[in-house]
Amino acid sequence: MTAVAIDGPAGAGKSTVARAVADALGFTYVDTGAMYRAIALRALERGIDPADAGAAAELASSVDLTLRDGGVYVDGRDVTGSIRSADVTRSSAQIATHAGVRAALVEMQRRMASAVDVVMEGRDIGTHVLPNAPVKVFLTASLDERAHRRAREVGADDGELDALRTAISERDEVDRGRVVSPLAQAPDAVVIDTTGRSVDEVVAEIVDLVTERS
Ligand code: C5P
Repeated sequence: MTAVAIDGPAGAGKSTVARAVADALGFTYVDTGAMYRAIALRALERGIDPADAGAAAELASSVDLTLRDGGVYVDGRDVTGSIRSADVTRSSAQIATHAGVRAALVEMQRRMASAVDVVMEGRDIGTHVLPNAPVKVFLTASLDERAHRRAREVGADDGELDALRTAISERDEVDRGRVVSPLAQAPDAVVIDTTGRSVDEVVAEIVDLVTERS
C-alpha cells in the first residue's frame, strides 16, 4: 500500500487539494478532521463536555464511525453536513487534545491505510499516523487567504472576515499547542505555500512528487 500524507493548518486548502490528488491517482481520500468533528458532534448531542478527557475517550472508542463515498456516518446516521457547524468546529479542536480520543481514531486511520492506497489529510499524519508515508506534504497559506477561502466556503461576507480570522488562528493555536501529536511539519515533508496559487497547480505538484517517488 502507498500513502500520501497531507498536513497543515485550518483553511490551507488541504481538503480540496487532497480530494483532487486522490481522484488523480485513484487513491482513497481520508479526511481525518471529519473523524474528530464526528466525535465532537456526538459529544455535544449527548451533553458530554469536550474538556472531559475520560468521557470523550470512551465515546471515541464506542461510536461506529464510517467514512464512505465522501460522506461521514456515525452510528448509522449521515452527519456529513452537521459536522461543519461553527460549534462542532470549535469543539473538535478541544476534543482532539485528548490522548484517548486520538488513540482510538489513529488506530482506525492506520487500519484504513493498511487496506487501500490513501491520500490522508489532517494535522499529524506525516508526524505520527503514517510516519513512513513516501510522500508528505505540509500545506500552508497566509492567514488572510485562509480567512477569505473560509468566507467563500461558508458564504460569509467581508464584514465577517475578522471573526473568521480570529476563529482560524485560535484553532491553529490549540492545534499547535496541544501536548499529544500537535500540528507540526514533519522534517521530511515538502512545504507548499498555496497563497495565490491555483488548486490545479498544487495538485499537479503533489501528483508529480508521488510519481517521482513510486
Ligand atoms: O481538518 P479540520 O479542520 O476538519 O479538523 C478539525 C479539527 O480536528 C482540527 O482543528 C484539529 O483540532 C483536529 N484534527 C486533529 N488531527 C487530525 C485532523 C484534525 O487534531 N489529524
